[in-house]
Amino acid sequence: NWILEEQIMYTSRPGDPGIDRKYEEALIEAETHMGQVHPARVAGEEIHARETFTVWSPIGKTLKTGVFQQCGMAETEAAILAANETYDDWSHTPWETRCAFIDEAADRLEEEYYHLAALITLECAKTRNESLAEVGEAVALLRYHSTVIRDNDGFLRSMPADTETDRYESVMRPFGAWAVISPFNFPLVLGAGAAAAALITGNTVIMKPASATPLSMLTFCRILEDVGIPTGAANCITGSGLAFGKAVSQSPGIAGLTFTGSRDAGTWLRQEFTTHQPYPKPVILELGSKNPCIVTAQADLKKAVEGVIRGAFGFSGQKCSATSRVYIEQPIFHTFVEMLTDQAARCTFGDPRQKGIFMGPLIDSAAKERFDAAVASVSAAGGYILLGGRSFYGTETQGAYFAEPTIVTGIPHDHPVMKNELFVPLVALATFTGIEEGIRLANDTEFGLTAGIFSEKPEEVEEFFSHIRFGVCYANRKDGATTGGWPEYQSFGGWKGSGSTGRGVGGPYYLLSYMREQAQTRLA
Ligand code: GLU
Repeated sequence: NWILEEQIMYTSRPGDPGIDRKYEEALIEAETHMGQVHPARVAGEEIHARETFTVWSPIGKTLKTGVFQQCGMAETEAAILAANETYDDWSHTPWETRCAFIDEAADRLEEEYYHLAALITLECAKTRNESLAEVGEAVALLRYHSTVIRDNDGFLRSMPADTETDRYESVMRPFGAWAVISPFNFPLVLGAGAAAAALITGNTVIMKPASATPLSMLTFCRILEDVGIPTGAANCITGSGLAFGKAVSQSPGIAGLTFTGSRDAGTWLRQEFTTHQPYPKPVILELGSKNPCIVTAQADLKKAVEGVIRGAFGFSGQKCSATSRVYIEQPIFHTFVEMLTDQAARCTFGDPRQKGIFMGPLIDSAAKERFDAAVASVSAAGGYILLGGRSFYGTETQGAYFAEPTIVTGIPHDHPVMKNELFVPLVALATFTGIEEGIRLANDTEFGLTAGIFSEKPEEVEEFFSHIRFGVCYANRKDGATTGGWPEYQSFGGWKGSGSTGRGVGGPYYLLSYMREQAQTRLA
C-alpha cells in the first residue's frame, strides 16, 4: 500500500529518529492532565468567569479535554481594557525587540513541540503526523513573520522626494487592540499565526479559540507571557463565539479583527462589527471554500490519486483547503476512478493517537449529520456513491463520530454537494473535455481558496495558473492536491468568498494587513 507507507514519512521532523517515542511519552503526560479546570488569561492573570463549560475530546466521550471559562461581556471587556492599556508601550517597543519576542516564542514552541502536538491530537482528534506538522508550521510561521519585518527594516522607508534639508518618510504603524478568533481544525497555528502577526506589528491581542478546542491557544498565551511580552499585550478569552463576536463588535476599544472559520459565521461577524463600530476598521477574514482539482489526460495518475486522497481525506476533510471537487478529463475518467477508489479504500481510520492511522474521528455529531445529509442528497439526486458513504459511532474508542472516506459522482454541477463547503471526508468527481472547460468548472464557485492541477504538460499548467481564480494554487502536488500550505513556501489566503484581504498568511504581504501607513514629513 504505497499511500500509507509514504504517509509515515510525512512529518515536519523527518530527521528525528525518536519522533514516535517522544510523541507517545508526551501523549501519556498530556492525558494525565486532561479534564482540568482552565482559567482564561487577561493581563497575565488567571480569570474565572461565573459559569464554566466542559469540553469532551472528539476522540471519545471518556476523555475530557477540560473545563473552561464561559467568558461574557465582563471578561471580554477586561481583556480589551488590558490590551488598550498596554498598547502604547508595546507599539513603541522597537520592532527589533518585538521580533526577538516572537522568535523566542517560536523557540518555546520548539521546546514544547511534542507536548503541543499531543494537545492538538487530544483536543481536535488530529492524527500524530498532522499534529506534529501543525506545531512545525506554527514555529515556521512565527519565524517567517520576524524575517519579513527584518527584511523590510521594520517597514520604514525614505520617500523618493527626500532632499538635502527635508525628510519624507513612510512608516507602517499598528492599529491598536486586535481580536483574533480561531477555529477548531488548526487549533494552534491559525490562532498563533494571526496573534503573532498582530503582536509583531505592534498591536496588542485578545485571542478567542474555538470553544471545542481552547487548550492549544491557552498554552500559546502562557508561552507569550513566559517569554516576557508585556502583561496585557496578549490575552486569551474562552467561551461562546457568538458572545465574543457581539462583545468585540460593540466595543470601541477594538481596532481590528482576524476571523478564521466558516463563511456564515465570518459574514455575520463582519456585518455585526461594521454595524456597531463608529468608523471603518480592518477585518481579516479567512473563510471556507470548495476547492477543485483538475486531472487532465496528461497527468501522472499515481501522483494525482495520492494528491487527491491526501487533499480530500487528510484530517477527515476538515480543512478549509480540503479537495472537494475533482474534475477529470473524459478519456482517463474510468482508469482514474478505479485507481482512486482502490487506494482510498485502504485509508486507515481509527484512534488518531495510534501510529499508522490516516483518518481520525470527526469533530462532533453535527459533522456526522452533515456527512449523512450530503450522502443522502447525492443518492436522492440520482448520483453514485463510488466508495464509502457510511458514518458510525465508534466503539473502539468509546464513542467518537467516524465517516468513511467517500467518493461520489454523477450529480449536477449546481448540486449543493458541488457548491457548499461540507468539512467532511467527501469528494465529488465530474468530467470535463479540454483544459478550458476544466478551469471554467473549477472557477464556477463563490469561493476561491485553494486549487490544484495534475498535468505533466507545462502548457496546461501555465494555462491553469493564468486563468484559475483562487489564492493558493498547486500543480502536481502529491502531498495534498490542494492542502498543506507552508509558511515561506505558499502564502495562504482566499479570494472571493474565501477571504477578505487577498494577502495570504505566511507570504510576504500578510503583515501589511495589520498596519496602517503614516507619512512623516520633516522640514528644515
Ligand atoms: N493551512 C492548511 C492547509 O494548507 C489549511 C488551513 C485551514 O484549514 O484553515 O492545508
